[in-house]
Amino acid sequence: MPTSFEDARSLILDHIEPLPSETVPLLESLGRALAAPLDAPLELPRFDNSAMDGYAVRSEDCRPGVRLTVCGTIPAGGRPEPAVPVGGAVKIMTGAPTPPGCDAIVPFEETDSGEELVTLYGPVNKGDHIRYRGEDIALGSRVLAAGATLRPPEISLLASFGCQSVEVVRRAKVAILSTGDELVEVGEPLDERTVVNSNSWSLAASVKELGGEPVMLGIARDNRDSLLEKLSEGLQYDALITSAGVSAGDRDLVREVLDELGVKQHFWKVDIKPGRPTAFASREAVPVFALPGNPVSTMITFEEFVRPALLQMMGHRAVLKPLIKVALAEATRKKPGRVQFMRVAVSSGPDGLRMVSSGDQNTGILGTMLRANAIAVLPAERDDFAAGEAVDVHLLGPAAALLAS
Ligand code: AMP
Ligand code: MG
Repeated sequence: MPTSFEDARSLILDHIEPLPSETVPLLESLGRALAAPLDAPLELPRFDNSAMDGYAVRSEDCRPGVRLTVCGTIPAGGRPEPAVPVGGAVKIMTGAPTPPGCDAIVPFEETDSGEELVTLYGPVNKGDHIRYRGEDIALGSRVLAAGATLRPPEISLLASFGCQSVEVVRRAKVAILSTGDELVEVGEPLDERTVVNSNSWSLAASVKELGGEPVMLGIARDNRDSLLEKLSEGLQYDALITSAGVSAGDRDLVREVLDELGVKQHFWKVDIKPGRPTAFASREAVPVFALPGNPVSTMITFEEFVRPALLQMMGHRAVLKPLIKVALAEATRKKPGRVQFMRVAVSSGPDGLRMVSSGDQNTGILGTMLRANAIAVLPAERDDFAAGEAVDVHLLGPAAALLAS
């Protein structure tokens, strides 16, 4: 009995343990997952400061047309002095600490920019253009959860806190093995029977895109000895991904040899299209993803199954891409029974997002993958979809990887 898409994904995620953590220099943490929650060691801003170039004033002295005496200047990085006396103003630059007595900033453009006396044009309210100490981030508040993906904003925050290094979950070393008697490596001579091993490259690129370390083991041939040797080697890493040799053909021996190596199989065959023969297994903490060999199926099953698993292994909290509803520009149909991953091109139209099929959905057609920027997830039980119907889609590529699920 094939497993449903949802059950297959849950079974996988139930078997994935996070790797240990390590401390890395701040910039090296980009795209990685924070190992432990972070409470603010400092408040931000650290002192009351001006949000504009202008004059620090006492709001009670101010009304349209009033003239104030300019008593000094505070540059960014300057000390918060002189204090603002009654009827006075102090020139102040953006980011400079507000001086005693000041409770509002009047931007230059709302004044005549006078040097000794300054005339205010409009009304002034208490608190105008002041960034108060701690208003952004309070001391001790929980600012980042364990498993937060470190993007430029998180790195900015860590830098503001003075962190030169950060504890993140270690990168997964992921073994990649292609299988098949017909395969040759890139650069080897070709003839009419051979197929270039492209799957190792798409898988390695996908692993790398997620922040993992791909280890390409090359090609195992469709025989027991070759598979035994290469699969045992693959089991020494944090995870193993194989492609091909997992369907029902005479020489599809991957599952049999995994079994011989004591790898426990959790499912084989999923109600999806493409990617039906996918198998998932594990030995101790090492997950094994046996993906179908067709290059399009390999990429789509990586996207749907392996990607969330590796993200979870590398400590990320958000591992599933958010599904967004996008309207189909054209009617489409499928057979009921399996979830269909339709390769689509999403674009923005006058009424929001729209999408079209990116081409022939036959799994042999790589061009359809090249033109796709998203995968539409068509539910198993459905058959006909009308033009204009909105269906679930997730975007392809790394940017979406960082969004919460
Ligand atoms: P299989 O799952 O072994 O039946 O392979 C399915 C199809 O994928 C066949 O047409 C294979 O030639 C092709 N294929 C298998 N492995 C690779 C690979 N590593 N790179 C490119 N194509 C492959
Ligand atoms: Mg094969």
